[in-house]
Amino acid sequence: FEGMTVSELAKRTGESTVTLQDILVNVGEKAESEFEPLSIDVAELVAMEVGINARRIHSNEGAELLPRPPVVTVMGHVDHGKTSLLDALRQTSVAAKEAGGITQHLGAFVVDMSSGASITFLDTPGHAAFSAMRARGAAVTDIVVLVVAADDGVMRQTLEAMSHAKAANVPIVVAINKCDKPAANPDRVKIQLASEGLQLEEMGGDVQVVEVSAVQKTGLDNLEEALLLQAEMMNLKARIDGPAQAYVVEARLDKGRGPLATAIVKAGTLVCGQYVVIGSEWGRIRAIRDMIGKLAVQARPAMPVEIEGLKGLPMAGDDIIVVESEERAKMLSAGRKRKFEKDRLRKISEGIETLETCED
Ligand code: GDP
Ligand code: MG
Repeated sequence: FEGMTVSELAKRTGESTVTLQDILVNVGEKAESEFEPLSIDVAELVAMEVGINARRIHSNEGAELLPRPPVVTVMGHVDHGKTSLLDALRQTSVAAKEAGGITQHLGAFVVDMSSGASITFLDTPGHAAFSAMRARGAAVTDIVVLVVAADDGVMRQTLEAMSHAKAANVPIVVAINKCDKPAANPDRVKIQLASEGLQLEEMGGDVQVVEVSAVQKTGLDNLEEALLLQAEMMNLKARIDGPAQAYVVEARLDKGRGPLATAIVKAGTLVCGQYVVIGSEWGRIRAIRDMIGKLAVQARPAMPVEIEGLKGLPMAGDDIIVVESEERAKMLSAGRKRKFEKDRLRKISEGIETLETCED
């Protein structure tokens, strides 16, 4: 919608220019000439008012794209060691070691390796978080680590994780965990996975398999190498300059600091002091903290940060966009709230209709 004129927006939405200009006035914008380009915020707002789900697609045209770290989610059957593996990986981070550990619970952490490469892990293992984020359009995860216990083998939630990853078109790297156990049988796990349709590398496919033990902390380097290799094949790049496009990974209310959101920037750079709209909330970024609680001036792609200064509590999966002024932030937040409320009421009324149909 960037730079669209009222007349173009009318064509796109199927509404008359008069209607759109009325909306502009209603939301407190002056009725621009129909050939004047609208700012992306105003265009989104107008589109929402006529019931269109405006999705911002930032143009990367001309922007320099630089390699960025992969964002990884850990999935697998209950008790196969997802939490243990994340804990073990967290401890391999150079920065975390230097800082004496990661002090804050962010919902995400970075493993930075001595080679200079880094990997961002979402610290909320499980299918629910992954699905919730995806359902809200937040395509944050680049790679799924599928954890399978070497003794238990493939179980129901292993298969679920596989189908989630497949549906989201996210590649899998398999971590066969608990390889320290006497009953461990990694070869059996591989055969099971292959028979479920996973194209393992050692059988001519492209899915890497790594044998690890989260408890004994073995194979972690290999897992990290495998993830970096996978990321390299995906050629993950992001625009660094320009307005940030980010997602909320986790949000919580702090008694002293108010609503806090853990965010991962997808593109651009999030800068302290900027006005943002997050889902239907808004705020002005008062502080940005990295995973060890250190204040940062800005956040770059794939870097998990905690942001402070929001007026309300956002939800995991909410998008974060940067707007130019407090006025715009309030306007867009109010517009989104109206839209969400409308959608909610519509869903309720549709629900009632469905109930009535059922009773017939
Ligand atoms: P989650 O449910 O997938 O998060 O699994 P947890 O990380 O909570 O682990 C479940 C149990 O398996 C715990 O008792 C862990 O100590 C144990 N466990 C996890 N990883 C390993 C491992 O590599 N080796 C052994 N022997 N036990 C493990
Ligand atoms: Mg767990």
